[in-house]
Amino acid sequence: MTTPPRYPTGGPAGLPASQTHVCTWHPDRGTALACTRCGRPACPECLTPASVGFHCRACVAEAQANYRPPRTVAGSRLGQRPVVSMVLIGLNLVAFLATAVQARSAMDLSDSGLYQRGALIPIEVSSGEYWRLLTAGFLHANLIHIATNMISLYILGIPLERILGRGRFLLIYLLSLLGASVSVLLFSAPFVPTIGASGAIYGLMGALLVTFKRLRYELRPLLIVLALNIYVTFQFSGISWQGHLGGLVVGAVVGAAMVYPPPESRRTWQWGTAIGVVVVLVGLAVLRDAQLGEWFCLYDTRGISCVPAH
Ligand SMILES: [Zn+2]
Ligand SMILES: [Zn+2]
Repeated sequence: MTTPPRYPTGGPAGLPASQTHVCTWHPDRGTALACTRCGRPACPECLTPASVGFHCRACVAEAQANYRPPRTVAGSRLGQRPVVSMVLIGLNLVAFLATAVQARSAMDLSDSGLYQRGALIPIEVSSGEYWRLLTAGFLHANLIHIATNMISLYILGIPLERILGRGRFLLIYLLSLLGASVSVLLFSAPFVPTIGASGAIYGLMGALLVTFKRLRYELRPLLIVLALNIYVTFQFSGISWQGHLGGLVVGAVVGAAMVYPPPESRRTWQWGTAIGVVVVLVGLAVLRDAQLGEWFCLYDTRGISCVPAH
């Protein structure tokens, strides 16, 4: 004759081991066992081993209902694939190929229709071609320009998208692009074309910096990369420091609104900041637009030449 296995009994209700109860879920079964958490009597079938003792069906179900999947500091689900970064890189590459085919060159794309219609030229924006504020961020001047920007987008974009999630990452990218364009509109020479994704990429750098600070990660590698980039920005002509600065500031501000607020007020902060940034940027663009006025421009081999429309 074998002795039946002994289960732990008692718990908060302090049921004596000798007393036989009826299982809460099986009224026809007697049991000397009880849930270690709530004390309900239960048969072996209704108990699940827990880290301490055994839990009944009700307690297991309650624990499952209360389970929250882990979230990042911005409230995004873990383990999302960085699809947006790859799509943005793809769009830039497609735009580059199209421009290169038009210009019949990979080293100087200024002689292509896409470049002439899409580059950010403040005077053309003020003459009504507002799409340039967006399209300029997807155009590049030559092979080296697109290669450096796409490598940066890959290196900065993938970790940031994993932390922020796709929607927030795309929002940061587009707002930084707009911030960079408005900054160029405000501070660059009105007749000089500006292109490139680097304004938006500086935005990713700004967002990554505040995110790393929030997570208490080591900031020094990022700061070194940023310092090198700023040095290059000011060292070589033809690089738009105006765009870089605008992108960096917008990325850092919107990024901070995504990773600093507590979970309960996160949505309010994110949307409030994003809408506020758009309102400020559009307001600045409208003011500059009125200041520059309407012009009529022609493109030829010497570049762009414009005359006032009135
Ligand atoms: Zn229980
Ligand atoms: Zn039972």
